[in-house]
Order: sequence, then structure tokens, then C-alpha cells
Amino acid sequence: MNYDVIMIRYGELALKGKNRDTFEEALQRSVKLILRPFHAVKVFRKYGRMYVKLNGENATEVMERLQRIFGITSLSPTIQVEQNDEAMRKGAVELIKSLDPQPKTFRVDTRRADKRYPMSSNEVTRSVAGEILREVEGIKVDLHNADTNVEVEIREEGTFITVQRIPGAGGLPVGTSGKVLLLLSGGIDSPVAGWMMLKRGVTLEAIHFHSYPFTSERSLEKVRDLAHKLTRWGGKIKLHVVPFTEIQTSIRQNCPEDYLITIMRRFMMRISERIAKKTGALALATGESLGQVASQTLESMNAINNPINIPLLRPLVSMDKTEITKISRDIDTFELSILPYEDCCTIFTPKNPVTRPRVDLCEKFEAVLDIEALVNDAVERTEIEEITTKPRHETVVDLF
Ligand code: ATP
Ligand code: MG
Repeated sequence: MNYDVIMIRYGELALKGKNRDTFEEALQRSVKLILRPFHAVKVFRKYGRMYVKLNGENATEVMERLQRIFGITSLSPTIQVEQNDEAMRKGAVELIKSLDPQPKTFRVDTRRADKRYPMSSNEVTRSVAGEILREVEGIKVDLHNADTNVEVEIREEGTFITVQRIPGAGGLPVGTSGKVLLLLSGGIDSPVAGWMMLKRGVTLEAIHFHSYPFTSERSLEKVRDLAHKLTRWGGKIKLHVVPFTEIQTSIRQNCPEDYLITIMRRFMMRISERIAKKTGALALATGESLGQVASQTLESMNAINNPINIPLLRPLVSMDKTEITKISRDIDTFELSILPYEDCCTIFTPKNPVTRPRVDLCEKFEAVLDIEALVNDAVERTEIEEITTKPRHETVVDLF
């Protein structure tokens, strides 16, 4: 089937006034960005709908990309026909015949937004349905549970017919909710947390703590690969790489073993807060989930939060590992996440980490360290990398 236009539906509900403009502009930006490789397409919006005019580009490929844009509720490949009865009837029949397998039942829904059109939506529905019944062998009407919904939209900007509605990614367009700094490790959880934040419309930056030479260059490369996966959903991402070896070494030399991990995390938070302030992020995010591992207790979360004032978001807090893993497979980070490269925590695992750390003890144990100097030094030596949507490996052909 040669489709003319992809119709994009979005946030029909709660949007009003200025919010709506911001939402629509951000959405249109994301759509244009992700469709950049398709030179012929034209993106425009009119009266609460967005359209991608295909001009010969492949509808399936275009829709595959659009399914990664947050803020889109559904997509339809449509044909655009002349605004008259015969064109609508013919168009609908042609669309139904193009479906494989052939639907056994159908219904027609007409929306007449352009009130200048002389037939009522009921009349259009009956006319189109009558034509389908005449022209498509064996097909029946079923109003309640049809195989195919034929949607006819008569609008000022054109008359569109579609027989498919493909779910969009939902959420809010990236760039409408401010900036969040994601603590990105090489594990399964934090990339999923980043994806969930993107889904809520934030602009994402990432921070990674690297303990070279305890952790290898390859483990850092893996984090870059994970950030790159996220760019498929949100566009380019700044990655702040923090040298963490000195801090880990001082903690290990000076603090009791069972508190090593907690104190290390408190340093991560202090540094992340400083980087967030520098870069304009309004919150931090981690992949922590309550009770998932011994260190992710409320006591531990409290101890980790304690040294900072910036909000720390934990989008996975109430999710099970199976739910998290499912998302990680869906967004294609899972295979990378399970690659066996050490991260700075696995090389730093004491035999019996405290599961209910006490803030007063953290403070007492940390008092022997020059916290300010350690944090300042790490912040100063932090390097910023720009992870773009460009392919990172020669084997990857996908451009976005
Ligand atoms: P993940 O699968 O995201 O690594 P996890 O279940 O392994 O999480 P932890 O290792 O306890 O849990 O880490 C909790 C969170 O702390 C991570 O989700 C991540 O946000 C952050 N984090 C841990 N290590 C690092 C690191 N080296 N750099 C940046 N953030 C980190
Ligand atoms: Mg981890």
C-alpha cells in the first residue's frame, strides 16, 4: 500500500493553552530530529494533530522511528483522498483490500471536523460501509469487536482514511520537563531508570563513576554504549565521567569495611549534586529499587540521600526485577547490561555490607576524610563527553 501521510495523535487530554504549545513544539522537534535521515518527509501540525507527509519514504520505517518518540499516543498510516463521497468510498475499499490477512469484520468511524462538508458523519459512515460490503467479499459489519476499524477524518487540511492505529510510546515529549542527571552504571537498572525519566519528558544527562585501573576501559565503553542506546529515545546525551579511584582508595584505607559501600555512595551523591548544579539539572536519578539487593533498604536510601539537598528520583523504586528486565529487553539495553565487565561496586564489595546503615555512624567514619577536597578534586577532573545519535560501531547500520 502506498500511504501518503502518517497521522500522529498525542496528549489529547490534559493539555491547555501555553502548556499545549510547549508540548507540541517539543514533540515536533523530536519528530523532525528522529526523521532526519528521511530527506523527503515533511512534518507539520494543524488543529491538535501532527502529520508526517511521506513523499515516497517508507511508511513502516518512518513509523518504527516514531514509536520511540515520547508524547505520541498513537500513529496511523493514512491515505489522503479528495473531499468527496466517491473518493472516500474507493479509498476505504482499497485500504481494506491491502490488508493481509483480510479482515472478516469491520466498522467505520467518521469524524467530520470540517463542518463545511455537506454530508453528516453518519451519512459518510453509511456510504463508506455500504461500499465495503459491496466490494469486499465475505466481510461483515461488527460494531463491537471488529477486526478492522476504518477511520475517516474529514478535516480542513485534508481527508484522511486509515485502517490501523499503532500505539505510540506515550509519556511526554523530551525537553518539556527540565533536566535530570542520571547516575548511570553498567547494570540493568540505571538505563531503565533513564528511559523512564525520558518518558516523563526530561532532558537527560548522565554521570558515571569510573575506577580505572580497578575497572577497565571496556567497562567505560559499555556505559557509553548504554548511553548511546538511550539517545535513540531522547537525542544526544552529555556523559560526565568522574574519576573515582582516589576516593574509593581513601575510603577503603580509612573506613570500616561494612560501611564502605554506603560511604562510597554518599560521595557519589555529593559529586553528582555538584555536577547537577553546574549543568542545570534539577534532580538526580538512580536505578535503585526498594529491597532489590541488601543495600537498597530505606535505611540505606536515607543514608545515601542525607548529604545532599537536591531531589533524588528513583523511578524503579516499586518495581520488581522481572518488570525492570522486561523494559530493559524492550529498549534493547539488556544484552549490553549483562556483559560481564566489572563496575566500581563489584570490585569494592565487602563481605558483610551493613544493610541498615546509620547516618550518625556514616558521619563519624567520614570525619577522618577531607570530604571537601576529595569532592572538589573529583569534580574538577570530571570529563564531559557528548554521546550522539550517530552509530558507535561499524556493525551498527541504524543511524538513530
Ligand atoms: P544497576 O543495575 O543500575 O547497576 P544495581 O541494582 O546494580 O543497579 P547498585 O549497584 O546498588 O544497584 O547501584 C544503585 C544505583 O547507583 C544504580 O542504579 C546507579 O544509578 C547508581 N550507580 C551505581 N554504580 C554507579 C557508577 N559506577 N556510576 C554511576 N552510577 C552508579
Ligand atoms: Mg550495579
